[in-house]
Amino acid sequence: MGFCYLNSIAIAALDALTRGPTRVAIWDFDAHHGNGTESICEGNDRIRYVSFHQHPAYPGTGSLSRANIFNFPVSAETTGAQQMEVLRRSWKCVEEFWPDLILVSAGFDAYEGDPLVSLALTRDNFGTLGEWLSQTGVPCAAILEGGYSSDLPLLIDAFLCGWERH
Ligand SMILES: [Zn+2]
Repeated sequence: MGFCYLNSIAIAALDALTRGPTRVAIWDFDAHHGNGTESICEGNDRIRYVSFHQHPAYPGTGSLSRANIFNFPVSAETTGAQQMEVLRRSWKCVEEFWPDLILVSAGFDAYEGDPLVSLALTRDNFGTLGEWLSQTGVPCAAILEGGYSSDLPLLIDAFLCGWERH
């Protein structure tokens, strides 16, 4: 829809499937639904796309799951703790695919201080997401997606420190 000319995470997933991994999971915790990624990956049974996002919100998609597409929408009225619980369920859905590779669409606009979105994650919460990556035992890579707060460098740092911790 114009935000990205190239879908980096989908390109990475499709490329990885030509190089050894047979099952790739994409975990997308950007606060917007990844409608482009869903569109590219839908119907590819070697990819599981798992998206956490605010709903309703731009772009308005991502309320339903089907086949290899798993959507975890949360409303802006939920608390940060509830949002982390939905994230935990979405992460479980990633692991249940038994992927050889996990690619992460790491958006930081679910942050409580983000000016574009109304979710409530804290800096520490992003550290927790990184810890989950470090604990899974599956190779992981992440690509930076959204994040519009001036705290963005701190959020990325928390995520990477959590990932490195274990
Ligand atoms: Zn976003």
